[in-house]
Amino acid sequence: MKNGGYQFKNITEDIVLLYGFTNECNMYAVKGTDKVMLIDTGMGTGDLKAALDAIAPGKPCIAVNTHGHSDHCCGNNQFPEVYLHELAYPDADNATEEKKTLPTDQEVEGIIKYEWRKVPVKEGDTFDLGGKVLEVIETPGHTPGCICLLDKTDRVLFCGDLVCSSDHCVHMLDHVEKLKFSTVSIETLLRSLRKVEARKEEYDYLLGGHDAFLMGKEYLDWVIEMCSSILDGTAGAFHPQLPPVYGNIICWKVELGKSAILYQDETVFDKKS
Ligand SMILES: [Zn+2]
Repeated sequence: MKNGGYQFKNITEDIVLLYGFTNECNMYAVKGTDKVMLIDTGMGTGDLKAALDAIAPGKPCIAVNTHGHSDHCCGNNQFPEVYLHELAYPDADNATEEKKTLPTDQEVEGIIKYEWRKVPVKEGDTFDLGGKVLEVIETPGHTPGCICLLDKTDRVLFCGDLVCSSDHCVHMLDHVEKLKFSTVSIETLLRSLRKVEARKEEYDYLLGGHDAFLMGKEYLDWVIEMCSSILDGTAGAFHPQLPPVYGNIICWKVELGKSAILYQDETVFDKKS
């Protein structure tokens, strides 16, 4: 199947968006002169190896997860090893269970699968792809093991689900039905947002995990303002909707600009141990 079943969109000369199957995140191939990096592996519906061979023929691939949710890491078994934060290991281990609860398209035939190995990444780690270096920034919030990848050469921040458009929302939910999300808190999310905000002179756009893939830095401002207002109790200014029920839990939705956050009372503050 052409391109492993994926559709491609060129974002810059060296960055390609992979998409086209149901319930998958946005995946990005980043080309260096020596290697190609795949950021997130989706649901594993298409043949990622075939897609990468079409994008960067003959180049070795490094696969990285921004976090361990099923829609970002179920294609990990198409690679012998995948880089992710240690705190994302439990989510990644649960991902195949999560996958069972989501509708997916039929898997492309002929995909080679591995007993993939986890390789830990942490704050400040770098990946040299040749001609460009991507840096790991730890950004716990949406999940404990979330990371961003900063590409200073292409001036983009791959942000996973740290910041999302209002179509998808920044999900800050705990224990949704059978899904074993492990959320941190709005308080922690805000610290992570401030950390990437402090480096905003180094990138022009955020490339996210869902819907609006190319986000201007105003998205960061919106999510920071929403988090601050949730913490100081003034989120009413952003018209929280009546508590919608998501699965079997009650949560709140706040919207600002083109972004939104879905959270619970339980996920506002850090849990004091
Ligand atoms: Zn997620």
